[in-house]
Amino acid sequence: MSITKTEAIVLKSMKFGDTSKIATLYTRDYGKIKVVAKGIRRPKSRLAGSLQTLSHIQIVFYKKKTTEIYLLSSSDTIRSYRSLYKDLNRYVFASASLELLDRLITGEEANPQVFELTQKILTFMESCRESSLEKFFCYYVLKLAHLLGYKPKFDRCINCNKPVKEKFVLFSPEKGGIICKGCARADQAYLRLSKGSVGSALKLQSVKTEDLNTYNIPMERLKEITNGILSLLDYHTGRGKSLKTFEFLKADFQRGPQGRMRKI
Ligand SMILES: [Zn+2]
Repeated sequence: MSITKTEAIVLKSMKFGDTSKIATLYTRDYGKIKVVAKGIRRPKSRLAGSLQTLSHIQIVFYKKKTTEIYLLSSSDTIRSYRSLYKDLNRYVFASASLELLDRLITGEEANPQVFELTQKILTFMESCRESSLEKFFCYYVLKLAHLLGYKPKFDRCINCNKPVKEKFVLFSPEKGGIICKGCARADQAYLRLSKGSVGSALKLQSVKTEDLNTYNIPMERLKEITNGILSLLDYHTGRGKSLKTFEFLKADFQRGPQGRMRKI
């Protein structure tokens, strides 16, 4: 058993017993872990109020090789992201981001880049214009897919590597990229993306988080890109699309003929 210190983002927490809580955390140094916070619901607990979902915290915990749930020793809030709770839209997009992260990460594998990205996205979602929330969510989905090894290919056909020139481009969640008419197969299902969406996805793949505020993307394109990446993640992990918090937005994001998988 060792005493370990790291930073974490609280993905979720639930009551446990009369006075305790179990929390799922995404940590900078150990990936996803579960901790039990004994006595945290007692008013005088030194842990009280520190495991709020979405918050960025610093923790000390006892790491044991033989247990799946570690004992939390101390927890200090670095940033609570309180403003995300004051606006339903901000809360939904931030929660959907963390729910996606929770679903895609299955164990203790450190990925500091994913930690940094998540922390940055929560910060931007707290302060960005409300009309930009979809853009930051789309960016998060795209970058997360990339960092977890599912970078979609938008510049050329995923099969023959030739430029795709059609007005509406076929996107294959299975292959993980756009596909030209010549390579598309009648027995495969594809999403249709507008040429503009493909261009915006390419731009989003290269832009820095800090520069996102100055880059505008029409809502229809954001919906198409987000839906495409979530379909890709769902195909490859089985855990991309059915986000509980995303149900709230689903009707909006999956509306219209482009949103549905279809045979060509
Ligand atoms: Zn091709």
